[in-house]
Amino acid sequence: MAVSSYIGRFAPSPTGPLHKGSLLAALASFLDARANGGQWLLRIDDLDPPREIPGAADRILRQLDEHGLHWDGPVLYQSTRLPAYKEALQQLSCAGLLYACYCNRARLRTLGGRYDGKCRIHNLHASATIHDKPHATRIQLPEQSTVTFKDVIQGPLLFDLNKAGDFILWRRDQLSAYQLACSLDDDHQGISHVIRGSDLLDSTPRQIHLSHCLALETPQYGHIPVLSNAEGQKLSKQNHAPELSSDKTTSNLIDCLGLLGFSIPSELSNSSNQQLLNWAIDHWQLSNVPVLRRVTESDSP
Ligand SMILES: [Zn+2]
Repeated sequence: MAVSSYIGRFAPSPTGPLHKGSLLAALASFLDARANGGQWLLRIDDLDPPREIPGAADRILRQLDEHGLHWDGPVLYQSTRLPAYKEALQQLSCAGLLYACYCNRARLRTLGGRYDGKCRIHNLHASATIHDKPHATRIQLPEQSTVTFKDVIQGPLLFDLNKAGDFILWRRDQLSAYQLACSLDDDHQGISHVIRGSDLLDSTPRQIHLSHCLALETPQYGHIPVLSNAEGQKLSKQNHAPELSSDKTTSNLIDCLGLLGFSIPSELSNSSNQQLLNWAIDHWQLSNVPVLRRVTESDSP
């Protein structure tokens, strides 16, 4: 096989151990990378210390190993990348694109989800004011901010970024916002394909916009349906999704393969994780992954 230029990644936050929803996202990105003869990298998005659980990053690494999802190369920890994020921020500021937002939560709540640009007058580059009061840093969107891209699973998609308005790149608590760190690290790691849950679909056009502003490479994106519980809520650490059981790794994989559109032959039910994954790599087809609707755990055949 020719050397593949495909580089995929899984980038969990260490806010708790993996649950079935995060295994589903890990497995989809792993299979797409391996089926394309590509690399699969692991990044730990440890940018939000207040939400992190001590030991969770190591637990995630062990859980991936237990399920046979072995990554390539060293793990990248976002907490080591702050200088790069600040440099990019400086670059955007020099381009006149950033401003200090002093709005408090109470005001933001009254806006109903669309930031109105009230603080655009506090441009960080143009104004001589010293912005020493606590503030978030927002990027000013152009008047026309429609982003289109072809999702490799969902097909062509179109978003108008102005619907939610100028978004935050640097938080009031002096932490990088997800969008900035993610765009920069995907570029830094040479990621060609981002396969992830559709809960991040709103982030994608913002990251594409940022990539353009910073002259970064834009990866291909594909969004898999998000796994929800019987009550229709997304499985997440916030709503106490149970940790994956270490002694049921094969059945965890079989469940997730079912949710990704595989019909698993019965003779594979006693296979090792490695045999199961090898079979799945051979049979992986993006077109079999369900298009956007939420799947529930009971959908697993
Ligand atoms: Zn503001």
